[in-house]
Amino acid sequence: MTHLFAKKQFSAVVLAGGSSSRMGGISKQHQRLLGTPVAVYTLRSFEHCPECTEIIVVSKADECPLFEEYRTEYGFSKLKCVLPGGKSRQESAFIGMKAIDEKSSYIAIHDAARCLITSEQISKVFAAAYRTDAATAACPATDTVKFVSASMKTETEGQPDRSRLWNMQTPQIFYADLYRAAAYTAAEKSFAATDDCSLLESVGFGCTVVDCGRENIKITTPIDLVLAEAILSARQKGE
Ligand code: C5P
Repeated sequence: MTHLFAKKQFSAVVLAGGSSSRMGGISKQHQRLLGTPVAVYTLRSFEHCPECTEIIVVSKADECPLFEEYRTEYGFSKLKCVLPGGKSRQESAFIGMKAIDEKSSYIAIHDAARCLITSEQISKVFAAAYRTDAATAACPATDTVKFVSASMKTETEGQPDRSRLWNMQTPQIFYADLYRAAAYTAAEKSFAATDDCSLLESVGFGCTVVDCGRENIKITTPIDLVLAEAILSARQKGE
């Protein structure tokens, strides 16, 4: 359903409040790729996306000043504010949601650690959200994913049909009132989720998947830094 008076613009919430435990505690969003911090690539893609009107960063409290430095050094004119995050990703997204312009019709939630997303891909996900109210970057699963027994933790117990499995990515973009309703309902019911589409699903809404390819990785462990640099180098050479 397209909302007749909804503006074709969105506010972005970029999440950078994690502890980077799987990176040995070194903040992944500030690691450098070809000399530039991970989060700067992410912010650039939103800054250059024509439909994005403002960017709210949610960061680890002690790293907020770093984002203020990026604002000046890299000239991010859409960066509205940098806020200290919560204990979980969901709490950080909630903090970001409350800071968007109340007139904003759409909200995009994005992991700062997904720094290879392009402005064109963000626009594609937004176009799908404009058409259907809720959309997510994703890519079809290529691995066979199996359940492993909860008790033994070593024994396989079968798998879902791979042809229907997709890996969820970000950005995830929603009609803002719908997202607010889902986020407040989840908070009231203490429903915990690792992504924002799950919040909508918990109140009965599906999200449109937009294939953004396997390059839209989330920097999580040290190997991802190597992969991301290789992809960025290839892009710079026009490969
Ligand atoms: O932990 P995970 O890799 O799922 O985190 C995804 C994103 O959420 C990361 O960009 C991370 O910085 C952010 N996050 C956050 N606040 C938390 C935990 C994670 O903003 N408390």
